[in-house]
Parts: sequence; structure tokens; C-alpha cells
Amino acid sequence: MQETIKVITFEKLMEQLPEHYTVADRELVQRAYRVAEEAHRGQKRHSGEPYINHCVAVASILADLRMPPEVIIAGLLHDTVEDTPLTLEDIRRDFGDTVANLVNGVTKLTNLPRVSRGDQHAADGGNGSQLPEEIEAAKTRKQDLKSETLRKTFLAMGEDVRVVLIKLADRLHNMRTLYAAPEEKQKRIAKETLDIFAPLANRLGIWQIKWELEDLSFRYVNPEKYKEIASQLSEKRPDREAQIEAIKKNLSQLLAKHNIHAEISGRPKHIYSIYKKMTQKGKPFDLVRDVRAVRLIVPDIPSCYAALGVIHTHWRPIPGEFDDYIAAPKDNFYQSLHTAVIYDDKRPLEVQIRTPEMHMNAEYGIASHWRYKEGGRVSDKAFEERINWLRRMMEWRSEVSDAQEFVEGMKTDVFQDRVYVFTPRGDIIDLAAGSTPIDFAYHVHTDIGHRCRGARVNGKLVPLYQELKTGDQVEILTAKRGGPSRDWLNPNLGLVKTQRARSKIKAWFKKQEVEQNLAQGRAALEHELHRLGITETNFENLARELGYKTPDELFIAIGTGDLSISRVIRRFAESEENADTLVIGAQPKESPSANAIEVVGLKGLLSQMAKCCTPMPGDQIVGYITRGRGATIHRQDCPNILRLKDKERLLQVGWGKVEHTYPVHIKIRAYDRKGLMSDISTLLDSEGVNIADVSVNANHTIASLDLTIEVKNLDQLSRILTRIENLPNVIEAHRVKPG
Ligand code: MN
Repeated sequence: MQETIKVITFEKLMEQLPEHYTVADRELVQRAYRVAEEAHRGQKRHSGEPYINHCVAVASILADLRMPPEVIIAGLLHDTVEDTPLTLEDIRRDFGDTVANLVNGVTKLTNLPRVSRGDQHAADGGNGSQLPEEIEAAKTRKQDLKSETLRKTFLAMGEDVRVVLIKLADRLHNMRTLYAAPEEKQKRIAKETLDIFAPLANRLGIWQIKWELEDLSFRYVNPEKYKEIASQLSEKRPDREAQIEAIKKNLSQLLAKHNIHAEISGRPKHIYSIYKKMTQKGKPFDLVRDVRAVRLIVPDIPSCYAALGVIHTHWRPIPGEFDDYIAAPKDNFYQSLHTAVIYDDKRPLEVQIRTPEMHMNAEYGIASHWRYKEGGRVSDKAFEERINWLRRMMEWRSEVSDAQEFVEGMKTDVFQDRVYVFTPRGDIIDLAAGSTPIDFAYHVHTDIGHRCRGARVNGKLVPLYQELKTGDQVEILTAKRGGPSRDWLNPNLGLVKTQRARSKIKAWFKKQEVEQNLAQGRAALEHELHRLGITETNFENLARELGYKTPDELFIAIGTGDLSISRVIRRFAESEENADTLVIGAQPKESPSANAIEVVGLKGLLSQMAKCCTPMPGDQIVGYITRGRGATIHRQDCPNILRLKDKERLLQVGWGKVEHTYPVHIKIRAYDRKGLMSDISTLLDSEGVNIADVSVNANHTIASLDLTIEVKNLDQLSRILTRIENLPNVIEAHRVKPG
């Protein structure tokens, strides 16, 4: 599939800019080009061409959509922060907040795939030295990252739709130049485009970008079918074009007779849409391929219906092929009349009828907003509605933290077919196909969802798992109070279809548990801190260091078991602020034990301190190889060493890392039993902890033990106290507060 894509020069881009751009606007675009060109200088695309060509091409796609100057400028700069030394601050300084925010938005979206590119190696099979489970793990990680990227894309939509338009332009140009990318990447990117970005363009109503993304993707995802359809299409092209010309002439004469002025054009066929029609309707290829299609653009809505009437009386309409998207627009706000008739030659002819406004909306969707603006039109209802739709969608989506779940939700809720049902008052509710009364209830109001106990569809009681159909009138029967049932979340029961309802149900259960978890988590942490003799804790700081916004969130995480107490204690001990607390009021003790010494060149050699000179950390030392007892460590100025004749047996040694331990006073209460003390000392021994002092105080049945033990850190202390408490008969073990 080798080919060359025409490079769009910067001069060409300048010519393409909407004519209403001011001189100042144009100069800014020029400056952005110079900045981007300099920043990317030396970088190359897969195809070998200079990187800046990509930036200009993206800006050019945006100029085609007649986007405002700041979007074109951000398009030119969209990869600079990510891939060049240029910073966001540079851009903010030179081009202002709007451009900087747009570039930042796009950069955030591209940040994650870059990490996933780093994983690429492992995920694609690696270098052969990896374990299968490592490769598996890398794959999962990659999947997560991909979902995460998509999640961010959708969230960004809610914030600023212009960011998404830049992202779509970026993706479109990357698809146009995908032939130059490594083969294994082609399929993956194409699939992702077909799954997510084309439907996204469709959802935003940007037909121009949607069909091109689809056709470009399809040729990589299914190359054989693509070639087959493409070649058959081009074979029949001259014939088809001649037919269309004749039909156009015929139609315009007919309409003129009825005083309808129409602009008629042949409708181009897109390969992927032909393929989809073939597979969806199970029609043979010939039938789909040979269908002729024309589009009529007429001045206003009455003319649309008038033209339809003329066509339907002149040719026989094909049953089931008429759709009135003017009275009932598609949920991406698309409007038109669609019909198909049996033409003079007894073969079908598809006809679309729309006004110029509907046409612009159909081609450019949400992007047409900026065209209206330049025309000085104030009200743009479709844009407002679209933005509101995005906001509503994002509202609950931001509550979904699991990326995979989010993307799945996106696929079912947004990209699948829809059903339109009515409330008892006659309002239309737009739901994902397959939705149940519970989905409907949650759509109407969260509280109605929670209290939903039954439903009537078209006046009849129905089970809650019944799928709703377009045109159904749905009435929800509610309880006075109470909440959803756990069953609703069981996918096998098919009671809930939409992600939106699912996440609201989950949120309800979570909220019930939150209070409980908070109290439990708080108590557990306070108990542990008390046991460790820590009286002052800054929970705000501790929560922040562990990545939680508030202490409550921290307690909840502990309560739900998402966060272990020992992690909290470790983190607490590590933090700067608690460096003193780590000492836990005790003076550190440096223990010049033999294992604290590193014997250079003979690691692992048994060694011990010489009794004659008792070296201390910091002393200059030397090792002496004994017969059969390893090495003895002496001070270098030890008379015994100085006197030594056989220097061959001396080894160079140095102090290793000296381990600090801290003497800590702990108190243990237990029902007295035989062997208790020996169990405790075995346990301490296994931890490598020294007992510096013990006193036992037994009165009748309760024994009270006071121990001074030498621990390395808080973490170890916490573990030891827990282990002691788990010994039979022990009631409690805690640290005696110092001082
Ligand atoms: Mn890019």
C-alpha cells in the first residue's frame, strides 16, 4: 500500500485560512509556524519527511473546518511540548492562555501512549528472554494504558471540545500517513481508530472526518475486503457517473416543474460504509454497490417535504427505506429526509433531502459552530445542545475511575444504537439499545432509579429485565424509600444495561459503606499509632503523602482494605517531618557487630572483633586471617598487628554500613502461662532483635512483662508488636511512651 501523500506547505496553509482572519491573526499563525519549525528541526516522521510537515498538515485539517486562529496555532504547536524542549510556559508567554491550554490539553492526551510505547517491546513479544507472565503483565499494562488514554480523551471533551478537534485532526493525519509506520503498529492504530475515533467523530457529527478515518482504518484492518470493494467500485465508476448525471438532469427538470429549486449532487460512496451495509443488511455486494445515491439541497424545510412529495408521487418508494430525521433528528443532531425509490430503470435510487444549514451541520457537526460564528449568527442551538450533551455525559463519567470500565461504558452508551422511549408525560428519553426499565429510571432521575421496584410499559406490567423498544411508553413504579438491589449489578441477570445506571448503583452501595469504612479505618490507625507510642500525628500531611486528598479518604482506604496499616506506618516513618519520631524518643545505638563489617575481596568470610583492641566504628581497621576461625578485625594501630611479621595474612577491610538500632521500651500483658517468655524471645530472635532488658511481674493470672528491645525502625516495631499479640494468651503489646 505504498503511496505518497501530498505535502501541505506552509504557504498553502496560509492561503487556506478563513478569509475573515485579520492581519494580526495571520501574523500569529506565521509566528507559531516559525516556533514549531525551529522546535522540531531535525526530527523526522516514519516516512522520513521533516516532522513539521505533520504539524502543518494538522493545522490545515483544522483550517478546512474553519476553526478560529487559536485552534490553528495550537494545531501547529500541538506536539512541541511533548517532543521538543519548548515548554508550556514558553507557549503561554508567546501565544497566551488559550493556546497554551489547548496545547496542554492535547499534550495530556498524548502523554500516556508514550509510556505505552515504552512497553511496546515487552508487549509485542520482547526479546525472547522474558518470562511468559512478564509478557502477559506488560500486555495488561498496555491495555490499561490504552484505556486510560481514551478515558482522558473523553474527559477532555467535557472540558474543551476544541482539544478533541485537534486530537481528531492529529489522528486523521496520522492515519493518512500510516503506510509509513511499522507494520505491527498499523493494525493496532487502525483498529483503535475504527473502534473509538471514527465513532467519536460521528458522535460529534463531523462526517468529513468520520468517513475518512473509517476508510483509512478499514484498509489496514481488513486489506482484502478493502481492495475488493475499492477495485470493483473503480471498475464501474464511469458507468455509474454517467447514470448519476442523467438522474440529476431528470430530477432537476421534474422539481423545476413544481417550482422547487434544488442543488443536486451525486453522493460519493465510501468503502467502509458499503462494507457495513453489506454485512449488516446481509445484502449481496452487487446490490449495495450498484445503488445510486443523490443528495438534494433545498432552501428551507417546507421545500424538503415538497421535494419528497414530488419524488414519492413520481417513483414508487421502497417500503421501510423512508426516514424523517428532520422531525426526529439523530442523536448526533443529524437532520435530513432519507428515502429510496424504484427509478425508471427499475433499480433503486437513494435520495437525501436537506437544507443548506442541515448540510453544513451534517458535514462539520460540532465544528460548524465556528462557521456560524464567523457569519455573525448569535444563536447556535445545536452547539449549545451538543455541549450540554457532552457535559451531561462527562458528569457521571468523571466518577468512574477504572479506565477499562469507562471505555466499555463509552462503547455501549455512546456508540451503540439508541432507542427512544417516552415518559408518561410524553418526554422523549434517548437510551442505549437494549436498555431496561431500570436504565430508564436512572436516566430520568438517580433517586427514581434507586427506588425503582417495577415498571409498566405501554400500560402493562413488565419484568425489570425487559428490553425497551423505540416508541415504548415507560412508567416506573417506585417504593417510598430504600435502595437498589445487589442483583442489579449481576451481569447474568441482564437487569441493567447502561454504564450510567451501573455506576450510579455502585455509587449508592459505596456511599452506604463509606461511613462504616471511615470509622473502622480511623479506629484501626489510631490504635496502631497508640500502640507505637506515637501521640502526635499530622493526619493531613500523612494523607497527602500517601496520595489522598483528606484524612477521611485515608481512613476509608484503610477501612476498605485498599491500604494496609503497615504501608501507612512505613510511610509515616520515612517522611522527613517524622525523622525524629523514627528515633521514637530513643538514642540510636551503633552496634559494631561483626556483620556490620565488609571484608574487601572476601565477602562472606566469617569474622569477629579482636578482643585486644576492640575496634569501634570510625577506627582504621584491618583484618587478620586466623587458622580456621575466619578473620579477626583489629585496629590498624593495634600493637599485635604492628608487631606482626607475616603481613601476608592481613586483609584490607572497611566498615560497612553501620546499622543503627533504637532501644525501645515495650509492655506486654498476658494470661500467664508456661513458656510465654521463651516464645517471646524466640520471636524476637527470629526478627534479629536484641533484648536489652527484661522484667517480669506476675500477679495471679495476669503477667506483665517490661522489655527493652533494640529495633531498627518503626516498621519493624509495628510488626513485632503484632506478632507478639498473636501469641497464645497475650492480651496486648504496646510501646511505653518515651519520656
Ligand atoms: Mn501529532
